Amino acid sequence: MKLKNLFLCLCLPFLFSCQFNMNSLKTSVDVSQKDGLTYQTFRKYLGYHDLPSTGNSKMLVIPVVFSDCSLSEQELKTEHEFLEKTFFGKSEDTYWESVSSFYQKSSYNNLNITGKVSDYFYYNKTIYEANKVYIDEKIEPTYPILLNAINWYNQNYDDLSEFDSDGDSYIDSVWLIYMEDYYSDYFNEHPEYQDVNNLADFLWAYTYWYDRPSDLKIKPFSYSWGSYQFSHDAKKSLPDAHTFIHETGHLLGLDDYYNYDYTASFSGDRTKPIGGLDMMDLNILDHCSYSKFLLNWIKPTVVGEDEELTLNAFQNNGEAIIVPVSSWSGSPLDEYLILELYTPTGLNEEDSTNSYCNRYPKGFDKCGVKIYHVDSRLGLFTLANNSSGIQLASYLSSPNAAYDAMKNDYYIDIVNSNTPSFSYDKKLITLLSSTNVNVYYANRPYSNADNTDLYKDGAKLKGYTFHQYKDKDLTIEIDNMSFDSCSIKISGIGK
Ligand SMILES: [Zn+2]
Repeated sequence: MKLKNLFLCLCLPFLFSCQFNMNSLKTSVDVSQKDGLTYQTFRKYLGYHDLPSTGNSKMLVIPVVFSDCSLSEQELKTEHEFLEKTFFGKSEDTYWESVSSFYQKSSYNNLNITGKVSDYFYYNKTIYEANKVYIDEKIEPTYPILLNAINWYNQNYDDLSEFDSDGDSYIDSVWLIYMEDYYSDYFNEHPEYQDVNNLADFLWAYTYWYDRPSDLKIKPFSYSWGSYQFSHDAKKSLPDAHTFIHETGHLLGLDDYYNYDYTASFSGDRTKPIGGLDMMDLNILDHCSYSKFLLNWIKPTVVGEDEELTLNAFQNNGEAIIVPVSSWSGSPLDEYLILELYTPTGLNEEDSTNSYCNRYPKGFDKCGVKIYHVDSRLGLFTLANNSSGIQLASYLSSPNAAYDAMKNDYYIDIVNSNTPSFSYDKKLITLLSSTNVNVYYANRPYSNADNTDLYKDGAKLKGYTFHQYKDKDLTIEIDNMSFDSCSIKISGIGK
């Protein structure tokens, strides 16, 4: 059970997608657009209303007190102040960063999250009763809590429209914080509930989507759920926002890059496709270049022919290089290599200096180039022959093909995931180790990434095999490495 501490959320994007009735969606997507298919356009097509990844956005944080809450009035007062700093404080108010200050820096000032922690919402059920609707009524147990909390806020406080920055009639993002210990600490206090199916999942952190009808003018949709106790995870006297930052990554639409099958009865697939060292993997460090590309925070240089470029530290200004599989579609929903110069500075400094919670791996503490292989191509799905689900019919080779599929109301999705049992085909994103240029990180089970995986001065990647074909003459050489820049020589693309 201890191992669960390594995995800080449970989100079920594929299951959720399958639950959608496609006829009820696709209300706001301009499918006439023929170039530059963005991740946001695709997410809207699927029916998501994500926290907008750029601009000014207001987050509504509602702390929830159950009727069997074990915290005193004084403790609740102290924790409220702690939560305010965790979400919206300045960096110096926290042990590392707040949700707001992290996203300001990680996005290079493209995303400005403000908001408020509301008064406590007192819910008239115990933790056990609140979770029981899952068993009695087969509904997600946080749905009634969310709806009651939003209705309560709407009746007693400000207009909800201030939390809808993009005017789509949905609250940009909601955080429900339950004022109870998470997981095993709760069970230590309540051994009588040890055997309650799914209560362990309920007492963790996850991100979900409310797709039921509501009478509200401004409705909830994307929301995260987590214990106030996560703000104490670092065991320092100052607030810790790591878990809240990770889940907020999901509110923005990002996937998990760790392998959910890893924990499955210890007999599942034991690979770690990107080696753990990322905010959407083990909840540590900054977001990687792929995530930032999806969120429109960076504009990578796309290399189409032999070229030598200078690459500056990714922390400084978000420079990244894309080596496409052959031709480039112009969309992040494609297959490519993405390169960034990692430095143990800025948002990487804390977690590469100290082991988070004294049990997580430390981030790389050397400089070097990270090379990721991304395959986030979209695919067209049809009903499986045995009608028990959907199956991949074909990859959609271009943004135009994707737009045509959207226009015809076809079911499309990103084909790959880093969890083998979720993936229809291959891995979504893998970190390519410099120790063996042609071996996916996925082939090194059990281990987290370390400094040897970075490409340093003189390192070379040659003849890479993409999912679509082997680029036998492709050569990427790293040279002139200094603390915050290096040169990258690329030749032989598409030969
Ligand atoms: Zn997650």
